[in-house]
Amino acid sequence: MNQKGDEVLETALRRGFIWPSFEIYGGAAGFYDYGPLGSALKNNIIAEWRRVFVVEEGCLEIDTPTVVPFEVLKASGHVDHFLDAMVECTRCKGAFKAVDLLKEQAGVDMEGKSVKEMSKAIRERGVRCPDCGGELGEVFEFNAMFKTAVGPGSKRQAFLRPETAQGIFVDFRRLYRHGRGKLPLGVVQIGRGYRNEISPRQGMIRLREFTMAEAEVFFDPKNPVHPGFERVASERLRLWLAKDQSAGSEQITEVTAADAVRQKLVCNQLMAYYLALTVQLLRRLGIPESAVRFREQLPGQRAHYSVETWDAEVHTQRYGWIEIAGFAYRTDYDLSRHMQHSGEDLTAFIEERKEKVVCHVVEPSFGIDRIFYCVLEHSLATEGKRKILKLKPYIAPIQAGVFPLVTKDGLPERARQIERELRTAGLRVEYDESGSIGRRYARADEVGVPFCVTVDHQTLEDNTVTIRDRDTAKQVRVSIENLAEVLKRLIEGTLSIESLGGQES
Ligand code: AMP
Repeated sequence: MNQKGDEVLETALRRGFIWPSFEIYGGAAGFYDYGPLGSALKNNIIAEWRRVFVVEEGCLEIDTPTVVPFEVLKASGHVDHFLDAMVECTRCKGAFKAVDLLKEQAGVDMEGKSVKEMSKAIRERGVRCPDCGGELGEVFEFNAMFKTAVGPGSKRQAFLRPETAQGIFVDFRRLYRHGRGKLPLGVVQIGRGYRNEISPRQGMIRLREFTMAEAEVFFDPKNPVHPGFERVASERLRLWLAKDQSAGSEQITEVTAADAVRQKLVCNQLMAYYLALTVQLLRRLGIPESAVRFREQLPGQRAHYSVETWDAEVHTQRYGWIEIAGFAYRTDYDLSRHMQHSGEDLTAFIEERKEKVVCHVVEPSFGIDRIFYCVLEHSLATEGKRKILKLKPYIAPIQAGVFPLVTKDGLPERARQIERELRTAGLRVEYDESGSIGRRYARADEVGVPFCVTVDHQTLEDNTVTIRDRDTAKQVRVSIENLAEVLKRLIEGTLSIESLGGQES
C-alpha cells in the first residue's frame, strides 16, 4: 500500500466511483459496485474498446448467456483444468491460494508446479496460515467455476461462465457463415465472467464477478496475417521475454511490432498486431506506453488451451505490475474439442487450396475492472492542495459542469437553460450551484470534469459564457450559440483552449 494508491481508492469511494458490494450486510470479498460516476467511466472505457475492436477492426460482436451447460465446459477443458491450488488452515479453516502463500512467505514462485511439490515446499519452508499462524493442510485442487443448475430438480448441471469465449466458439458455424467465409474472422463479446477466487484480497483487482472484453480471432493456420498490419508495424512493444524471466532478469526487450514478428519473439503477425493495438488503446485511455509491458508466460503458467500467452501488464503504485489483458494463442484447441464433443462440423474452407481446416485462434482478453483501476490511478494528480483527475475528456463521466456564478439575478435560470441545451446536444453535463465557484471547480476537478461552463452577469448582456479548462485552469469566453460545438471539439481534442485564446484567470 502507499499514499497514491490510498488516495485513489479514497477518492473513488468518496466520490461515487466504486463501493464494496452488499455493504450494509458486512460486504462480500471479491465483489464491487460501480457508483454513478464509476458506471459512467466504465461504460466509456468499454466504448473505447468497442470503438477499436468493433468499429475500426470490424469484429462481429455477439452476446451469449452467462449460464453455460456442463457439456460445453467439459468439452472446453474447464471442468477438468480450470483449477487453482488451494490450502486450508487446520486451525482457523481459512482458505488460501498455495502459490500466493509460497511467494509471500518463502519468496518462491511455484506457479505451474504440482500440488505434491507445493505441499512439500510448504512443509519444508515452514509456511503458516497468514491469519492465525496455524499449521496448513495438504494442497489440493479447487475448480474455480461457480456451479449452478438449470431448471428445477437440479438435473442439468451448469456453471457461470469463467470466460465469454466459449459462447463464441460454440457459435462458430453461424458466425463463419455470417462473415461470408472470410478469414481472419474477429468476433468479440463483452460481458461478465465469474471465477470463485480462493481468497481475493486485492480489492477490485481480484474479483469473483468481473467484466471481460474478449476477441477470438479465427485464422487459417497457414496464413496468420492481419491485412492492416502496416498500420501498427512501427508501434514499439516492451517485451519481458520468458528467457529473461527464467534467468531472474527484469530486462525488457523493446522492439517494433514488425521486428517482434521478424525476430520470432512472438508466435505470429496476428499476435503482434493485437499487442500493438493494446498499446494504442491504453494510450488513448491515458496510460502511457512507459507504464505498459508484455510479459511472456512461462510454460507452466499458461492456461490449458494455450501454447503461447502474453500478459499486458500496467504499472501501478498500489499493486505494482498488474495483468490487465491476456493474449493466448489457443491454436485449434477449442474448435477441435467442440467438434469432438458435439459431433458438429466446425471447419472452414480455404478456397485457394480447396482445403477444409480447423481455424486457429489468437485471443486478446481484457479485464475491464483492472483497466478501470489503472485509468484512475494514472489520471489522479495532486497539484499543491488540488486533486485533479486528469481523465481524457472523451472518457470523463461528466464532460462539462454548468455553474451560475451566483444564485441570484436570474443566473441559475439561464444556467439551467444552457444545461438543457447541452444535454439535448448529447453532452454529459451536470449543473451545480452549491458553494463558492472555487469550491465547485475543485469538486469538478476531483471527479475529472474536463470543462466547466460559468454563467455570469455578462452572459445576460451578450450571451457569452466562460469555459474553464481543468488541466490548465485557463478560461475563454465563447458565445452560447457555439457552445455545444466548441465543447464537443474540445472533448474530441480537435480544438484546444489555447487555440481559442484561453488565458489564466
Ligand atoms: P485470463 O482469461 O485469465 O487471461 O483473464 C483475462 C483477463 O481478465 C485478465 O487479464 C484480467 O484483466 C481479467 N481477470 C482475470 N481474473 C480476474 C479477477 N479475478 N478479477 C478481475 N479481473 C480478472
